[in-house]
Amino acid sequence: MRSATRNPIHRLWLKPRKLLQWCHCPSCGSVDIRQVWTTTGTLLKSHLTCDSCLQATKWQSQPSIGNFPAGNMLLSAGILFAGASPTKVLRVLNHMGVMTYEKRTFFSHQRDILQPAIQGVWTQQQAAHIAMLQTEGRPLVLGLLKKLKAICKLKGCEDLKAWQQSIINHLYWAVVSSTQDDAELIVDKWKSVERHVLNLHRGHGGKFPTCAHKRLQGRAHKKKWIKPSSLSAVKLEKLVTDKMLCKVIGKLSAVHQTSKVEGFQSLIIQFAPKSYVYSYTGMLCRTLLAGLHYNENASRHTATTKAGEQRFKIRYPKYKAGHVVKKILVEATFSYVDDLMGEVVDLCKKPSADRPVQLEASHSVLGNGEA
Ligand SMILES: [Zn+2]
Ligand SMILES: [Zn+2]
Repeated sequence: MRSATRNPIHRLWLKPRKLLQWCHCPSCGSVDIRQVWTTTGTLLKSHLTCDSCLQATKWQSQPSIGNFPAGNMLLSAGILFAGASPTKVLRVLNHMGVMTYEKRTFFSHQRDILQPAIQGVWTQQQAAHIAMLQTEGRPLVLGLLKKLKAICKLKGCEDLKAWQQSIINHLYWAVVSSTQDDAELIVDKWKSVERHVLNLHRGHGGKFPTCAHKRLQGRAHKKKWIKPSSLSAVKLEKLVTDKMLCKVIGKLSAVHQTSKVEGFQSLIIQFAPKSYVYSYTGMLCRTLLAGLHYNENASRHTATTKAGEQRFKIRYPKYKAGHVVKKILVEATFSYVDDLMGEVVDLCKKPSADRPVQLEASHSVLGNGEA
């Protein structure tokens, strides 16, 4: 905090202080009172002692959440959740003469509360997505499981039984892991399972030529691989590549709101401007924020005029001559910020020992970075 004489805040606090200084003692009404003022970031505290009745009265300009002054934590949360720069926002407030905390306070809020809140909300949302996918995909999965079980019962196909669950899991993975709204990619990922169980991990063809897992070593390699051209292999191939099945799997991509990579990249830049340096956790959390924003706003409609006509704008992009016509979308919404704020409040109220531990939190290493 800056020294009391130099900090311009005292221009701004002057008026409320004068008002309060004229207050009477709340107990006896005497004006014979003494006040001591202290500040913690944006929090202003007054300690009033009455010389007539000796009553002491405390007053503070904002409530607390757990041990944190609410205004301080909400300022940090507001900065991060908007994808803003703490350096700049604090400078803006300083220029205005508003009392703020030092940058290191932002970083400790970020490390102890805000980043765990982002990761918590993200995990909850992903779990909800997978649950939705499981519900939507249930008839498909049950049908697939039934057919798999029937194959396993055939003489010579018993070895497939050990793979049943992996094959179902692979189906979910194929859908959830696809960052593009790309039915073909999802189907090709799905089809690769038929070669993976043969211990073939490359040359799958299509949009997914190579398995996504690392080189299999040790126990991961000592699986009961299916023999190529065996009855199991032939039956599984027929099941996996079934046209109807692949069509339905492709359609699951529409259920799972996946991100269109191009739009997503420009969104990440909004939450983590390239001109700043971020730690690994800092970058991860800002990317997750972009993900939360994207998931909520990916399927926005085109804005309409009062007459109900769709609105468009003309852009002149740098990379090509001429113009492009773009849809004007309805305003973005920020419900995820409510979820984040709720998580922040919950975390603030928890004793610090009960909060999730951050793996890494060294903004100091980065000097002037935005961590
Ligand atoms: Zn009094
Ligand atoms: Zn593989």
